[in-house]
Amino acid sequence: MNPEKCRTCQTEIQPATAKRTGGLCMPCTMQADPAFAEKVEDAKISDSDKNPTIWQQVRSLIFVLLVGSAFMAVIFIAKIVVSVIAGLIAKFVFKTGWSTAILIGLGTFVGLGFLGMLLDLDWPGRNRSRRKPPEK
Ligand SMILES: [Zn+2]
Repeated sequence: MNPEKCRTCQTEIQPATAKRTGGLCMPCTMQADPAFAEKVEDAKISDSDKNPTIWQQVRSLIFVLLVGSAFMAVIFIAKIVVSVIAGLIAKFVFKTGWSTAILIGLGTFVGLGFLGMLLDLDWPGRNRSRRKPPEK
């Protein structure tokens, strides 16, 4: 162990600290770069993201699958309900024939599908993975 000296205030600092900060003690580093502490925290977070345990991986996979499929199922059922209602409205309010009503129902279903794609509604897990730092 041979302590080095801070470039600014000449305080003795550990070689490991000097290596991390470019030769400054921690107080001088914080003064020079207020975001330093945040960067250290970020580095810790991305380290654990880079090396997740198997259990963490399995857990996040299960989470994405459960939340994703539950969300998709709810959206799917909602689309069917709205489509059936659209068909029934066509049949009973606008007095169309059954075949027209079914076509309107199918059209509504397809249209809602496109609307969902436009609004990017259909996969909550995607937002989660977007926030992760890019893989190396
Ligand atoms: Zn210093």
